[in-house]
Amino acid sequence: MDAPLALYRRYRPETFVEVLGQDHVTVPLRQALAANRVHHAYLFSGPRGCGKTSSARILARALNCEQAPLAEPCGCCQSCRDLARDGAGSLDVIEIDAASHGGVDDARDLRERASFAPMSSRYKIYIVDEAHMVTTQGFNALLKVVEEPPPHVKFIFATTEPDRVLPTIRSRTHHYPFRLLPPRMLTDYLAEICAHEQIAVEPTALPLVVRAGGGSARDTLSVLDQLIGGADDAGLTYALAAGLLGFTPASLLDEVVDAFAAGDGGTVFRVVDKVVEGGRDPRRFVEDLLSRLRDLIVLGHLPGAAGDGLLDVSPEQGQRLAGQAARFGAADLVRAAEVVSTALGEIRGATAPRLLLELMCARVLLPGADDSLEGVQARLARLERRLEITGQPAPAPPDRQPAPRSADPPSVPDPAPAPGAAVEPASERTAQPASVPEPAADQAAGRSLGLVDVRRAWPDLLERAASVRRLAWSLLSKSAQAHSLDGRTLTVAFVNAGSRDSFARNGCEEVLRQVLIDVLGVDWRVESIVDPTADSSTGVPPPPPAEPTAAAPRPERGQSAAEPATANQATAEHGGPDINDPDADDQGDGTHELLTRELGAQVIEEIPHRP
Ligand SMILES: [Zn+2]
Repeated sequence: MDAPLALYRRYRPETFVEVLGQDHVTVPLRQALAANRVHHAYLFSGPRGCGKTSSARILARALNCEQAPLAEPCGCCQSCRDLARDGAGSLDVIEIDAASHGGVDDARDLRERASFAPMSSRYKIYIVDEAHMVTTQGFNALLKVVEEPPPHVKFIFATTEPDRVLPTIRSRTHHYPFRLLPPRMLTDYLAEICAHEQIAVEPTALPLVVRAGGGSARDTLSVLDQLIGGADDAGLTYALAAGLLGFTPASLLDEVVDAFAAGDGGTVFRVVDKVVEGGRDPRRFVEDLLSRLRDLIVLGHLPGAAGDGLLDVSPEQGQRLAGQAARFGAADLVRAAEVVSTALGEIRGATAPRLLLELMCARVLLPGADDSLEGVQARLARLERRLEITGQPAPAPPDRQPAPRSADPPSVPDPAPAPGAAVEPASERTAQPASVPEPAADQAAGRSLGLVDVRRAWPDLLERAASVRRLAWSLLSKSAQAHSLDGRTLTVAFVNAGSRDSFARNGCEEVLRQVLIDVLGVDWRVESIVDPTADSSTGVPPPPPAEPTAAAPRPERGQSAAEPATANQATAEHGGPDINDPDADDQGDGTHELLTRELGAQVIEEIPHRP
């Protein structure tokens, strides 16, 4: 049994209606044919594989159809049958490949033969493919006959580079520019073909095929052909397409984008390692990452883009992307895309692509270190968000910009006790900061946030959680409460074990962590516990009356030389019970909570009392 013909040959269009995505060309051509106003020379230009030669053949077929003038070839007469896909061909339709026959001798030969009448049809039609390959002398030899051909001769030039066709020739033709095909149209077309060929195909695989085809119908069909050839009983799967075409799997992109949004450098560099060790092309990875960031930017402006067909993604992936877009700020996204785009330029032909890839990731991870306008905007957006929530900007050391997100691993020690507190024996278990000369950037930002702030921001946190993951929102809003904040660990209490387990098992802790990054600009660990007394309704305290505390001078603090003023200050700025603070334990969480909840109180200062 013979192998079947290539798809692009089997599906080559035979009428203008079948030509995909070139209506701006085919509609006027059909008009001209129907009205018998066909010019004697045409120039079809456009990228490869988008229907130029096919359209030239259809035009020739329609011109020589016995039923002409007609908008489309009738398909039944002898001429139409000869010129069909599997027809015998016609001596009166002459296809010339100028790449091999573009010399002056060929042109002279053509000129002489053109003077003879057609054998059996109305017209003698020359289809000159790759017309830009005709030499200047060749064009000059043709000039006369193209300008004033005998009435039975028509010329159709097809070229990918109309600018290289001699202007004197070009000016004597009607020029029809063909275009690349839009991806959505091609995706639909591929789905039709697969259905017709009875091939099972995963819908997510088709956009990959379309991307590999680069907008050319012929190339796209060739890619599809290759994939179908390699498909097993499962049909054309996403994994097969991504593997064979060398695309970065969506899961790897999800991983790296999530890590970027969280400022999780460790994961980012592990992904880079996976890319390189997995034998993937770093360039392709950067391209795919840029394309993902573009999708996120579009989603940021147009949340319904996935459903609109503006993005080539499945509904599930669309939801995932919406979550990612929400986690990134708009300025962050644009800045990241610019960093990646610059890297894409540098990585071409680079001898050490891995190094460039890693440096690119480092740049994306460090908006705080970026003094460009976009970097500053990204930081400003975060500060504004903080300001809205806490009513006060994050205090910044005079010589440092607070960077809400940092590439530092989350192992940075507890910011609550400042270095001075190390002398106090009671704080010994959290005394490591003494050995850290400079607080990490996000510590600077996180210092003023306490449990009360978290609770006050709870509605915002819930709202954001709802947009990221419905399940997390549902569990948090129905049965959870912000329980305690221990340095960089926020504990959430659930009223029952079922909700807690569901929360932990479904990755909602990570969702909440992301939400905290987004809304409060803090990268805290999230833990969940079961506390039957937790009441989710108290998660939202009544808004506090005024906010005099932030700006009010702290009276008398530091009067006693023995007093660990900095530790108190840290506690005070937290505005809530800090369970690192042994004094707070003495007072009992209940008192604080009661005062906060019922009276909107905020701790200004705590006077430590020693035994
Ligand atoms: Zn016909």
